[in-house]
Amino acid sequence: MNKYESIIGLEVHAQLLTKTKAFCSCSTVFGASPNTNTCPICLGFPGTLPVLNKELVRDIIKVGIATNCKIRPVSSFARKNYFYADLVKGYQITQFDDPICYDGHIDIEISDDERKKIGITRIHMEEDTGKGIHDLDIDSLMDYNRSGVPLIEIVSEPDMRSAKDAYNYLIELRRILVYLGVCTGNMEEGALRCDANVSVRLMGSKEFGTKTEIKNMNSFRNVEKAIDFEIARQIDLLEKGEAVVQETRMWDGQKQITRTMRTKETSVNYRYFTEPDLIKVNVSDEMINDIAKQIPELPSKRKERFIKEYGLPKYDASVLVESQDVAQYYEDVCSVLTAKNEHNYKLVSNWIMTEVMHILSERSITIKDLNLPPNLVAELIELFSNDVISSRVAKDIFPEVVKDGISPKKIVEERGLAQVSDTQSIENIVKKLIEENPESVEKFKNGKKNIVGFFVGNTMKQMNGKANPKVITEIVNKYLSN
Ligand SMILES: [Zn+2]
Repeated sequence: MNKYESIIGLEVHAQLLTKTKAFCSCSTVFGASPNTNTCPICLGFPGTLPVLNKELVRDIIKVGIATNCKIRPVSSFARKNYFYADLVKGYQITQFDDPICYDGHIDIEISDDERKKIGITRIHMEEDTGKGIHDLDIDSLMDYNRSGVPLIEIVSEPDMRSAKDAYNYLIELRRILVYLGVCTGNMEEGALRCDANVSVRLMGSKEFGTKTEIKNMNSFRNVEKAIDFEIARQIDLLEKGEAVVQETRMWDGQKQITRTMRTKETSVNYRYFTEPDLIKVNVSDEMINDIAKQIPELPSKRKERFIKEYGLPKYDASVLVESQDVAQYYEDVCSVLTAKNEHNYKLVSNWIMTEVMHILSERSITIKDLNLPPNLVAELIELFSNDVISSRVAKDIFPEVVKDGISPKKIVEERGLAQVSDTQSIENIVKKLIEENPESVEKFKNGKKNIVGFFVGNTMKQMNGKANPKVITEIVNKYLSN
């Protein structure tokens, strides 16, 4: 048993996909020239007034419902005051005492048959800051295009007990946000940012140890690595009889360590107070019900359904639901097969997870970009599962089906690729091979059973891959045993 237990909570910032900023009508589009998506409101000119973007409220309620949160009927905005060059107003508009969503949870999978509930303390709305550009030979420059872009902050309970838990929580949260269509979930581009609070304590202890906050983890794997490093570092300190200092630490990806960024003593007092320029946010039950209706089936539910409805192994179901579009594509192919009273759904998942995904990753495209009608994949699966063609032929013709959108049936007919089903021609080849290779037959009789593969392979070769391997194997076994 481990001597120590680690306690982890995550604060996740998600950039929303609203078309306009949180409190003005500036565009949120990514990649515009610096400072072109700005106006007196998001630049904080005196005398301007912010107006709340309703889309932001709807999006956060969606996330709140999907994460089993309670939604506050009345909530307010607050000013978080601090000075920094990227914060042009001198304060950030956020929510403080009364976040719009609170007291929720999501389930994460910790092993094949074990799930764990991770509490969500709160989810609130806030605005993003500008961005400094420091990597130039000239002075530091500021780009305020991001100033006022809507963010939601999702704060978890300290319910995670390992870096792996934190990783799984983050992945599940990302899936939910992407499924809801409110965030791209791209951590490398900063659409999803995550800070971790980490502490350790002796196993069985009720009190929390001193925690540190880790920042600057810009990928899912880095979150896991940084937390693992931090847990080990804290345990090491305690083992040496030293104390953990409460501080903010930064993940250094190059050195693969966390290091001190600022200690608590120097941290600022934000002097939060109610934002006087914005009215309270009122949410009616009607609005909540209306939004609830627009929430799609969430990934964990969809995964369960895939296992039940299509008889898929857990692994297949998780891979397929990872992307909403891939999951939909899978269902589209299956529904074509169902209509024809074909039910080989596992074959469809095999095909999508190997052949289709191989092409997607090779070309770095999405399944939508592939533009392949689901009925063509269904047709190929049908030919293959009914032994009309071998798996080799199916794989061989697939790139053509993808490239030109030609019906696999047509390709098979035109080129005579259908599997030879009369056993006579297979038997003839097998008999001849056995006559020509007495030494291999001898090896078989001396117990080298895998010599079967040699005969099957050569028979298949002579039949240009158009024979059913199962039938060949049976025939080879029959002749070798006589
Ligand atoms: Zn603006």
